[in-house]
Amino acid sequence: MKAPNPCLTCGACCAFYRASFYWAEADDATPGGVPAELTTKLDDFRRMMIGTSGSTPRCIALEGEIGKEVRCTIYENRSSVCRNFPASWADGKPNERCDKARAVWGLSPLEPDSWDDMTEAA
Ligand code: SF4
Repeated sequence: MKAPNPCLTCGACCAFYRASFYWAEADDATPGGVPAELTTKLDDFRRMMIGTSGSTPRCIALEGEIGKEVRCTIYENRSSVCRNFPASWADGKPNERCDKARAVWGLSPLEPDSWDDMTEAA
């Protein structure tokens, strides 16, 4: 049986880092962009996903239980910062930021074989 995409059972990065990006990626500036109502102003140039700042961050768009089963409810419209965050070994290299977020949530780092025989991404 195929294993799920490890990101579908993780979500740690969405509940650890601030997800901020250039303001014009939101859909009130770019049709099809990040839903603006799920963002808030960070500074004159950037917005961030609501929920991703503060001492216990968790993105407003994240559904599910960290480390069990999660889903980004705006996956097709997520920002560049989310698209460009590689899970460890997804592209053949480790990512210490991925490992760090997982560690905070008590999850071991992904390994190269975490990506073997996986089902499709959400
Ligand atoms: S928009 Fe989606 S991928 Fe980006 S932090 Fe939120 S839940 Fe995670």
